[in-house]
Amino acid sequence: MKKFLTPALLLVIFAISIPYSVSAKHRQPFFAKSSKNISLVCEKRCPFPKQKLQKAFAALNAQFIKMEEKVGTPFPENLKPVEIHLRYDASCRKISKERTDDQEVFGFTTAKPDGKAMICMKADIDDIIKNRPTHLLHEYAHHYFPMQPRGKHDFEETLAAAFEQFITGKPNSFCDAANEKSEPNLYKLCRDFGFEVDDMPTLIARLQALKKNADAVTNRMAIDEIKRFKIMNYE
Ligand SMILES: [Zn+2]
Repeated sequence: MKKFLTPALLLVIFAISIPYSVSAKHRQPFFAKSSKNISLVCEKRCPFPKQKLQKAFAALNAQFIKMEEKVGTPFPENLKPVEIHLRYDASCRKISKERTDDQEVFGFTTAKPDGKAMICMKADIDDIIKNRPTHLLHEYAHHYFPMQPRGKHDFEETLAAAFEQFITGKPNSFCDAANEKSEPNLYKLCRDFGFEVDDMPTLIARLQALKKNADAVTNRMAIDEIKRFKIMNYE
């Protein structure tokens, strides 16, 4: 075999392999690290040093494990690992130019072609390391509570807010006066039916069970489920 590998042949092999290696390099992100729970991706022209990205990955992974422990219901396995992008990179802009241009949007959640969860955040790396922003918890919540119909101000947003408050413990009651204005649906469920922060694990488990038996969980079904178990507990 050796005698066939003349210098000319080697040159041909080398020339053929160049375009492949260049395109493979082009596709590779600047940083990508995965656990079974999350993967953190920062694409080309990533503004953050790798050392900070490593730290952010560790902080986010630890936060995810703590979150699942507190909820008591695992994050849906088929959506893991959740792919997290920072600073609205090319993949995020490709999915939604509208949302990445919107100054009011801190982040959004979507599904990759393989069905895994993907979250795009506007957050800065230092926020992720130091504050572990509640915005990310909010986006995780959208995967715990996928409901129909989707819309900017549907009940899924109310439950995402409830989830943030449950995980962070701030405020420690859904009946808190701050919710009366910012989350009126949540406030009313607390005031009228006694739906509280500690009810979140039960609700999440119940909604996930409902999802197994129905094509989609509607806003109405979720609200009825809260009333049902709160009233039943009361009797
Ligand atoms: Zn949301």
